Amino acid sequence: MSIALRSGYLMPLVGMGTWKVPKEDAADTIYNAIRVGYRLFDGACDYGNEKECGEGVARAIKDGLVKREDLFITSKLWNTFHAKEHVLPMVKKQLKDWGLEYFDLYLIHFPIALAYVDPSVRYPPEWAFDGKSEFKLQNTPFQETWQALEEVHKLGLARDIGFANVAGVLLCDVMRYAKVLPAILQIEHHPYLVQQPLVDLAKQFGLALTAYSSFGPASFIEIGWDKNTASLFKHPLIGGIAKAHGKTAAQVLLRWSTQQGIAVIPKSNFPNLITENLTHVDFNLTAEEIKAISGLDLGLRFNNPVAIDSRFGIFA
Ligand code: NAD
Repeated sequence: MSIALRSGYLMPLVGMGTWKVPKEDAADTIYNAIRVGYRLFDGACDYGNEKECGEGVARAIKDGLVKREDLFITSKLWNTFHAKEHVLPMVKKQLKDWGLEYFDLYLIHFPIALAYVDPSVRYPPEWAFDGKSEFKLQNTPFQETWQALEEVHKLGLARDIGFANVAGVLLCDVMRYAKVLPAILQIEHHPYLVQQPLVDLAKQFGLALTAYSSFGPASFIEIGWDKNTASLFKHPLIGGIAKAHGKTAAQVLLRWSTQQGIAVIPKSNFPNLITENLTHVDFNLTAEEIKAISGLDLGLRFNNPVAIDSRFGIFA
């Protein structure tokens, strides 16, 4: 199953995320995921493992499991590289890390421009300017970064371009000046954070959507951002629906998105869960079930680093 993007290229509806995949496991994780049928991988400078992910891709191509054109590789521009002079060099560096000639999709990771950090000094640069506690914004308007991405697209280095973590007002603004229209909006999306008006607006503008952190708090426990929220895996509503369909709670959570035409990119390090996630599309929820799951909405955002981390108190 796939979604047609602006370029006409197809994006698989189910892919695999690479955030928090340890460097030492990344090549094998990607290789094995390709072996069991994954074709979309969601990477980023910030995940610090693009080189290793690329090694997994190269091995899979060398072993004849897939051809480059069978794969859909996404990467993202980090916040410290928003100035127009940094965008193209970063794309080229990230392509080199992956061992690729083009990305299928290249996204602006956050609409937050941070002061430049020389990649030869620290890579990935992460949030703090000094690598510890100093949060330093940079005066680069989003329009400048978007126009630099348009150049990347024109050079054929990214077949489609888009952004993550952008709210409705900024999306409206971009649509006023974009010459290459954004193909994808990637957002945190799960039953505790439904964001229906944003989803509807993006669809109205012709963007496709990708959901990240589809399991809500599950992804944020290990980094201490989970806010002690009740697990969606153990939620009685999700459990009841899963039982009725003979599926797992994870599969119900993913299907809630994909049945609404929103792509998913779950990540797991366990082979059984990796397969469970990929194969979740072989059943349908009823309209009432989708509505009931959406009714769990709490407007609860887990991935909000600048509001959570007290070092960056200006945003709190
Ligand atoms: P996720 O929703 O994929 O959840 C990961 C957690 O769920 C892990 O603890 C994992 O072990 C567990 N899990 C996975 N499959 C499971 C299953 N079938 N049953 C039970 N547990 C399961 O979380 P995520 O990593 O936050 O998001 C997925 C991907 O989205 C990331 O890897 C990354 O590529 C992307 N992402 C993008 C942004 C952004 O700002 N654009 C932010 C976060 C994540």
